[in-house]
Amino acid sequence: MKKIVIVGGVAGGMSAAARLRRLDEEAEIVVLERTGYVSFANCGLPYYLGREIPNFEDLVLQTPEALAARFRLDVRVAHEVRGVDPEKKTVTGMNLQTNEGFEFPYDHLILSVGAQPIKPPIPGLDSEGVFTLRNLEDTAAIDRWIEDKNPKTAAVVGGGYIGLEMAEQLHRRGMKVHLIDAAPQTLPPFDAEMAELVHKELEKNGVDLPLASPLDRIEPGGKGQVGAVKAGQAEVHADLVILGLGVRPDIALAKAAGVEVGNRGIRVDDHMRTNVPNIWAVGDAIEVVNPICGEQVVIALGGPANRQGRIVANNICGGEDRYNGTIGTAILRVFELQAGATGLKEAQLKEAGLKYEAIYLHPKDHAGYYPGATPIALKFLFEPESGKIYGAQAVGQAGVDKRIDVIATAIMAGMTASELADLELAYSPPFGSAKDPINLIGMMAENISAGLLKQIQWHEIPKLDGSSFLLDVRSAGEVKGGTIEGSVHIPLPELRDRLDEIPKDKTIVVFCQSGQRSYFASRVLTQRGYEVRNLSGAYLTYQSQPS
Ligand code: FAD
Repeated sequence: MKKIVIVGGVAGGMSAAARLRRLDEEAEIVVLERTGYVSFANCGLPYYLGREIPNFEDLVLQTPEALAARFRLDVRVAHEVRGVDPEKKTVTGMNLQTNEGFEFPYDHLILSVGAQPIKPPIPGLDSEGVFTLRNLEDTAAIDRWIEDKNPKTAAVVGGGYIGLEMAEQLHRRGMKVHLIDAAPQTLPPFDAEMAELVHKELEKNGVDLPLASPLDRIEPGGKGQVGAVKAGQAEVHADLVILGLGVRPDIALAKAAGVEVGNRGIRVDDHMRTNVPNIWAVGDAIEVVNPICGEQVVIALGGPANRQGRIVANNICGGEDRYNGTIGTAILRVFELQAGATGLKEAQLKEAGLKYEAIYLHPKDHAGYYPGATPIALKFLFEPESGKIYGAQAVGQAGVDKRIDVIATAIMAGMTASELADLELAYSPPFGSAKDPINLIGMMAENISAGLLKQIQWHEIPKLDGSSFLLDVRSAGEVKGGTIEGSVHIPLPELRDRLDEIPKDKTIVVFCQSGQRSYFASRVLTQRGYEVRNLSGAYLTYQSQPS
C-alpha cells in the first residue's frame, strides 16, 4: 500500500489526490492544507467580492468530509507542513487549530504549495485595510472590511489579471476605484496597444487609472487604517487597498527539503519529478518550459496546475505521462470586454531578437448581417518563413475565448500560421462566419509568406517621409470621422479610375477602416506595378494606439 502525502489542497493538490484514488483504490492518500479550506475556487474569489457569485459557500467546492466519503481521502485542514526529511521520508508540521505537532511518513510526496502574493517593503503596508487576495480567508477579511467600514474609495495596486478583476468587482460594490500600476500599461501578457483597449473600457466605467506610477507608500487615514496611496506622481484617497502585484512561487519548503530551485520556481522534469527521489511538484510553485521559446518560465494559472496534478498522479501509479509545457493561455473579463492572450507577445519577441510578423485585424465575432455582431481586435504573431505561430491577443465583447483557444491549440499542435486558413470551425450566423477570423488570419499569413501582402505597422506611420504616399480608401463618411494626417482620400470603388493621382515613384501606404478594403486596394495597385504597403489593422488599430 503506497503512502502518498500531498502538501496543498487546492488546484494541483486536489487534482492529484482525486486522480490517485481513481487509479489506486488501496493507496493511503493524505492531503495537508494550511488554510481552513480545501478545494476552493480561487478563480471565483473576486466575483464573490463583487457579489456576482452571491454566496461564500459557492466558492467551497468540496469539504474534507465529502472528500473522505467520495474518494476515501484523508484531508487535514489547518495543517501546516514545516519540514520534510527526504532520508526518513517524513513530513512534519503543526496543527494550527490545536498547536500540536504532526508527522506523516510518505512513499511519495507531492508539493502543490502554490505561490505567495508579492509585498514590496514600503511604508504603511501593514496598515489595516490593506489586503492581498489568495484564499478564502483573505476573501472573508476583505468582505468584512467592506461590510464594516463601508469604504467609498479603493486603490488596487497592480494591473494584472487579479488586479483588473478586483477593480471591476469593487466598482460593482459601489466604490470609486483607482487602479495603479508602475508600468505604463496594465495586463503584462498583452502588448501596449492591445492593453490600451482595456484601459479605455476601464476609464469608460469610471475607473481612475494612474499608470507609470510606482508604489511609494501607503498613508494612514487615522486609527492605524489606510487613508491614501502615494505612487509616483499619483496620490489617491483610499479606504481600502488591494495589492495585486503578482505572485512568487512558494519555494521555502522545497528548499528546506533540498529540492532544486531554478531561476524562480521549483525545478521539475517533464514527469513533474524534482531532483529529490520521491518528491514531486506541480502548480504555481514550479518552473515549466514554454515550448514556444524553450525557456524555463513561471506561469501561475489554474489549468496547468490541474493538468499537472493529474500527470503526477498518473506517474506515481506507474505511468509515463509527460507535461508539454505552458504557453500562458489566459482570458479575463473587464466590464463589457473580454481580453485573451496566448503565447508570446511582440515585446518578448523583440527582446529575444526573433524574426516575426504581426497581423492586426478587426473581424466581427459572428456574421455581420446577423444582429448583435461586435468587432474583435485581434493581434497575431508568427514567423513568416517557417510559419511558426508565436502568439495572439484578442479584445472584444464576444468570441474572444473561441479564437484564443483555437490559436493556443494550434500552437501546441505545431501547426503553421497558414494552416489556420484550412481549419473547419463551427459556424452558423449567430456564432461565427463562414470564414472565421481564425481562417482569415491563416489567409493573411499565407499572403504575407507568399509575398502577396506587404505590411506596415501603426507605429511606423509617424516615421513616414516624402518617399511614401498615404492613401485612405474608405468612404467619405468614414473619413469625416477622422483620418491619418497627410493622407489622400480615394474611395476603393473609384481607385481604378483615379490611378493617375497616385505617384509611381513612391511607396503607397494604403489603409481603410479594418483592413479588408485596403488589402483589395493593395492588390489592385501591386498588379499595376506600384510598391505597396498595407497598414495592418488599418485605421482602427492606428487610432487606438496609446498616446
Ligand atoms: P493553490 O491552488 O494556491 O494551492 C496551494 C495551497 O497550498 C494553498 O491553499 C496553501 O494554503 C497551501 N500550502 C502552501 N504551503 C503549505 C504548507 N507548508 N503546508 C500546508 N499547506 C500549504 N487562474 C486561471 O487560470 N484563471 C483564473 O481566472 C484565475 N483567477 C484567479 C483569481 C485569484 C483571486 C487567484 C488567487 C488565483 C487565480 N488563478 C487563476 C490562479 C490559480 O488559482 C492558480 O494558478 C492555481 O490555484 C494554482 O494551483 P496550486 O495548486 O499550485 O496552488
